[in-house]
Amino acid sequence: MKCKDKCDSCNKFGYCRGYAGKVLCENCIELLENRRINMEGIERIKVLASEVKDKPLLKIIDYLISRTDMSEKYLNEDKNLSQMISFIKSLAKKEAVGNVAFIEDEVVYGWAIHYWDESNESLNLEKAKIEEPKTISTKNESASKPKTKKTTWHAEGQLSLFDMM
Ligand SMILES: [Zn+2]
Repeated sequence: MKCKDKCDSCNKFGYCRGYAGKVLCENCIELLENRRINMEGIERIKVLASEVKDKPLLKIIDYLISRTDMSEKYLNEDKNLSQMISFIKSLAKKEAVGNVAFIEDEVVYGWAIHYWDESNESLNLEKAKIEEPKTISTKNESASKPKTKKTTWHAEGQLSLFDMM
């Protein structure tokens, strides 16, 4: 229901409606909804990383999660964490002297962001192989299914940053 009221968020008078327990104007609702969509990428990273126990990798993941401005990029289905790891490793190898590479955390974070920020095409990477869960279609699913298909993500398992170096 719409009515002219004071927006709880921006304090302006306008057509407001109840949203998330507040009375908000259209502008503020739109802002909130954009932010909600925008956080989906962060959620994806959390799901993909949910089984990761490798400490160096967890530091990178924490960094990715802190970069909410990157959230939308994290929704790129061409990309995933295991490919990000190979990308980081390939760059680390170039820096290595002998078999040892000492690379500052900040540099690795930069590589990780670079991986998510650029398209695989421009990084000369292939599309990440994503194991699609097989869906079994049933005859009467169209009637009951909601229109918006919710993307489901799956944990990528226990990945590790330097196990293969
Ligand atoms: Zn408002």
